[in-house]
Amino acid sequence: MISTGLSSGVHLPGSTLGILGSGQLGRMLTLTAKRLGYRVHVFSPQRDTPAGQVADLEITADYTDLDALRRFAQDVDVVTIEFENIPVQALIALQPEVPVYPQPHVLEMTQHRLREKQFLSGLGIPVVPFVPVNNSQELQAGIVQLGLPAVLKTAGFGYDGKGQMRLDTEAQALTAYAAFAGQACLMERFVDLEREISVIAARAEDGTFQAYRPVENRHRNHILDYTLAPAQLAETMEAHAIQMTQRIMEALNMRGLLCVEFFITRQGDLLVNELAPRPHNSGHYTIEAAVCDQFEQQLRVVCGLPLGDPSLRQPAAMANLLGDLWAKGEPDWQAALSLSSVYLHLYGKGEARPGRKMGHLTTLGSSVEAAFQLAQQARECLSH
Ligand code: AMP
Repeated sequence: MISTGLSSGVHLPGSTLGILGSGQLGRMLTLTAKRLGYRVHVFSPQRDTPAGQVADLEITADYTDLDALRRFAQDVDVVTIEFENIPVQALIALQPEVPVYPQPHVLEMTQHRLREKQFLSGLGIPVVPFVPVNNSQELQAGIVQLGLPAVLKTAGFGYDGKGQMRLDTEAQALTAYAAFAGQACLMERFVDLEREISVIAARAEDGTFQAYRPVENRHRNHILDYTLAPAQLAETMEAHAIQMTQRIMEALNMRGLLCVEFFITRQGDLLVNELAPRPHNSGHYTIEAAVCDQFEQQLRVVCGLPLGDPSLRQPAAMANLLGDLWAKGEPDWQAALSLSSVYLHLYGKGEARPGRKMGHLTTLGSSVEAAFQLAQQARECLSH
């Protein structure tokens, strides 16, 4: 560890960044931090991880191992996260030893869907109508209040459509609730979606705020499939989404990076679906297409450096590469790489399971449509 000698929460290049979590978001953050001259230690329960492969040090220990956390804290200057489902207690345990951004209260809020929705509605931010479900009476009451179809979600530990089920009938509701085996849940009205968009923004200690323009997200089986940047939206809708993001970050008084996922309904309403206080899959395109990408922005905000310029240089699209692509053997990398303006990212994961995020492709174009077409073409040629 090289001390910067600065006590005001600024950690200059040469300092050591600690990351809790070691997946692809941590890998891309680590690669950025290395480019800027930082050392990086990652902490997670796994070995030979996407982030661990490129970091200076990979610590393999459980998030509840207080001794391991203390040792980790001693050797780093500042800590951030790349994965949302880290026990808040781990962040709280680190805090007396080392600064942690985002702050633990932000993680506590955003890793629990019900708390998050209650917080947002308390702020007057529009969300999908929901009710808490803790027993079968509340389940029945929810069906009466919201009507069917609806969606039942576990309150904690959910992402990429995990921990949620669509309910079309009362019988399905009972089966779904039984499958969640007594976990705290919430029921949401099923929304007729026109589109899904997201905004990623950074907020510094002094309240300085920088947002990337909204992007459009297309999902398949509840997992992000394509991101189109920028989303083709009316200027007022774009401004509104960014204003809501800023309000949420101010209300949380957070220092860090936040992704806000929105639903746009067929009636044209903008509703917040979910918050993630970290870089996001829908921001991967920024590596090639923005002046300062989301990983550098996270590094800057966590290290107290001036925030970067989030402007888009060029329209872009991102296509996720899931494990399914390996069904017929190794994808045809040469075919995709023979196309110009196609950028391949692979995360170093050994086993290509269906639905597992193995990598992504970013494409640039003279228009969003052109970039999107190229992304479709590039991904298609991988499976030939
Ligand atoms: P989530 O894990 O809550 O972000 O949900 C994953 C995806 O499921 C969302 O991006 C939507 O495509 C879909 N979804 C979730 N909740 C609803 C809802 N209440 N109505 C319609 N679609 C939903």
